Amino acid sequence: MSGYVYDFIEGNKDLKDLLGGKGANLAEMTRMGLPVPPGFTITTEACQEYLRTGSMPTGLLAEVEHHLRQMQTRIGRTFGDPRDPLLLSVRSGAKFSMPGMMETILDIGLNDSSVAGLARQSGDERFAWDSYRRLIQMFGRTVFDVPAGEFEDGGDRDAAGLKELVEAYKKVFQAHTGRDFPQAIHEQLFLAIGAVFRSWNAERATLYRRQERIPQDLGTAVNIMAMVFGNRGDDSGTGVAFTRDPATGLRGSYGDYLRNAQGEDVVAGIRNTIGLSELATIDPASYRQLLSIMQRLEQRYRDLCDIEFTIENGKLWMLQTRVGKRTPAAAFVIAAQLVDEGTITLDEALQRVTGQQLAQLMFPSFDETTAPPPLTTGVAASPGAAAGAIVFDSAAAAAATGPVILVRRETNPDDLPGMIAAQGILTSRGGKTSHAAVVARGMGKTCVCGAEELEISDDRLVIGGRTLYAGDVISIDGTNGRVYAGSVPVHASKVVRYFEGELTAHGDPLLSAIERLMIHADHSARLGVHANADTSADAARARRFGATGIGLCRTEHMFLGDRRVLIERLILGEHDALAALLPLQRTDFERLFEAMDGLPVTIRLIDPPLHEFLPSLEELTARVARATALGEDPGRDGVLLAAVRRMHEQNPMLGLRGVRLGLVVPGLFAMQVRAVAEAAAARVAAGGDPRPEIMVPLVGAVQELEIVRAEAESILASVPGAPPIRIGTMIEVPRAALTAGQIAGAAEFFSFGTNDLTQMTWGFSRDDVEGAFFGRYLSLGVFATSPFETIDPDGVGELVRIAVERGRATRPDLTVGVCGEHGGDPASVHFFHEAGLDYVSCSPFRVPIARLEAGRAAV
Ligand code: PEP
Ligand code: MG
Repeated sequence: MSGYVYDFIEGNKDLKDLLGGKGANLAEMTRMGLPVPPGFTITTEACQEYLRTGSMPTGLLAEVEHHLRQMQTRIGRTFGDPRDPLLLSVRSGAKFSMPGMMETILDIGLNDSSVAGLARQSGDERFAWDSYRRLIQMFGRTVFDVPAGEFEDGGDRDAAGLKELVEAYKKVFQAHTGRDFPQAIHEQLFLAIGAVFRSWNAERATLYRRQERIPQDLGTAVNIMAMVFGNRGDDSGTGVAFTRDPATGLRGSYGDYLRNAQGEDVVAGIRNTIGLSELATIDPASYRQLLSIMQRLEQRYRDLCDIEFTIENGKLWMLQTRVGKRTPAAAFVIAAQLVDEGTITLDEALQRVTGQQLAQLMFPSFDETTAPPPLTTGVAASPGAAAGAIVFDSAAAAAATGPVILVRRETNPDDLPGMIAAQGILTSRGGKTSHAAVVARGMGKTCVCGAEELEISDDRLVIGGRTLYAGDVISIDGTNGRVYAGSVPVHASKVVRYFEGELTAHGDPLLSAIERLMIHADHSARLGVHANADTSADAARARRFGATGIGLCRTEHMFLGDRRVLIERLILGEHDALAALLPLQRTDFERLFEAMDGLPVTIRLIDPPLHEFLPSLEELTARVARATALGEDPGRDGVLLAAVRRMHEQNPMLGLRGVRLGLVVPGLFAMQVRAVAEAAAARVAAGGDPRPEIMVPLVGAVQELEIVRAEAESILASVPGAPPIRIGTMIEVPRAALTAGQIAGAAEFFSFGTNDLTQMTWGFSRDDVEGAFFGRYLSLGVFATSPFETIDPDGVGELVRIAVERGRATRPDLTVGVCGEHGGDPASVHFFHEAGLDYVSCSPFRVPIARLEAGRAAV
């Protein structure tokens, strides 16, 4: 019978959609013959059905009963048997790991009579009553939302004390729920299953999924497993381990072990653990068995695995495994190692790393040489350098306006909003597998945990006689665990220095891994990677970072600062400004062509939104009013004010920009085209190999382009010694995309300006919406990421596909690129690859990221 429930022996690791990650991997381990406690998994489909209808799917409970009977037969014990009870754990487990976000209930099956059986059978009365009180607390909290704080503490009592505590807990349960704690063990089980289903929609889980871009409709599976106990004395315990170091990627097993404890104690980071290697002395047989299991798991999964295990009276049990989370550095190192070990191919290695991870490795870190002595050193849990004001709770972090460091004794899932808001996280308890560490690594956020010397309370942090309060600035280094008072200067990452050519990869495992994978990415990629650069310094950096051209030189950026007034004069009709601009532009272009010698440089004709280039109407009005009031002549301000009033636009981004300005201000584009041609001719004369291209912005109709093109061609023809210069257009107005067939008649290349194309397709002002309502849109799920960040594949993307198709139908050798912000966004790079573009162009710093993603898209 298989509908909603699969026995562990029936599943395998590839059934994650249906069984969730935990269930699929428990099944895989069971198939491998590893010591997994018997159990079964309720599918995600059952959860989806439950969440849709609000009640248990028909037949589910009968199936559960059936599987439970099979399990009892196999184990030879009966669920909740008063003489020797089989107890169950009920655990959530979605397709994607969501550490600590959903619910787990342990010790299901204990009641007033089976607790005696557990005591007798284990020979440990205290343990039995402790388990029973844990169940009432966990069950009350999870199934009936009884606040955890309502149950008084009492873990250190003796058996009689715990027995009294059970009675007290039952009263709390009764008071809050209006009913007795269920003695019917099957009812316990079914209620627990429903609670785990519902925990999919818990606020923190929803928030986590939004942050991690996990779809909200997957639902969780529920794993029901025979309980094993790590808290049955000194020959018992529980631990978490990794088959390689998840921080550095280096070989060798790594983990934490907690003697005489339940699994949740380790993950919660509540007690400090001992290193896995110490298990070798405490219990050498289990240690050896564990190492051999870890080796088998790595072979099976062909990747770093992490595991949770429990030892019950000297017997090892595997409670979980999965392909483990790792730092970005470890991802690169492990991928390269696995290639060396012959486990995976280079193509697969590329799939094991992401542009996002590379981006994180390019963040700056603290400059060790100028840092003060650290206050203390904790566990380096998640790399990066972060400085900010101390906040002691999640709400304060979420409310903060500047950068903050969330400082907690330990974190729990309720701290998630604060962890998202903070620059970094610092805790005084817990190891690399504590909640803070796991969640921070997942988010790529800097974290130092287990800094035990810190005494952290609700409003202060004390270290060696020194006290710091909320608002005081601290700096934390998640790469080496150091904590500093004040703000520490930062320096460039070693990966950036490598790309800059200041360091070689030789002898450095991380840089060597990156080098190897970048070579393979470049070799595999079909998309080229160009850079958006307006200065020769940016161009030179882009080239060092591997750009093979400039895809966008925004010439209006060459007129910021002192030169802005020249543009102002031009817009206001003072044409003599053109003569002043020509030599300046020529020199700009010459420098750019020199820096990119031999590679294409796409010069975009000027596209200055008027509000960025004209003085503000309000300011001018005030200045003129002041002068008039003082009886002074407002002079030039008066003329300017009249002109600015005349030209004032309500919607400057939809106003007189780009090609429109070029057609309205005579001589403007002509001056730029001349400057390009003369600069190129000068470079040729100097022995260089300039490859300029001229690009017209904001075209919506082929007629606009034809007029500009005719003028440009005649100017180009008039400059002696200039190399051939192609003329193309940006596609950033929806009409241009739709009429691309016509436009390609006058364009040798297209470059999608996806910033404007997104603005005009959605009708979202790119300057305003992000602050105004995108937060709300994201939480409502209108989109999962801002369409200004990741291309909207269905709307804007469809226009891209249409334009590529229609443009190439007219001109088969049309070159097509993209130069909007999306060109450096990992997900968008894959879209552009699929859409058949020739290149993406992005800011110099993102060039390596785009190169890596272009390679990944192709393998
Ligand atoms: C664009 O619109 O995508 C583009 C690259 O041009 P700009 O951002 O300069 O408007
Ligand atoms: Mg634009």
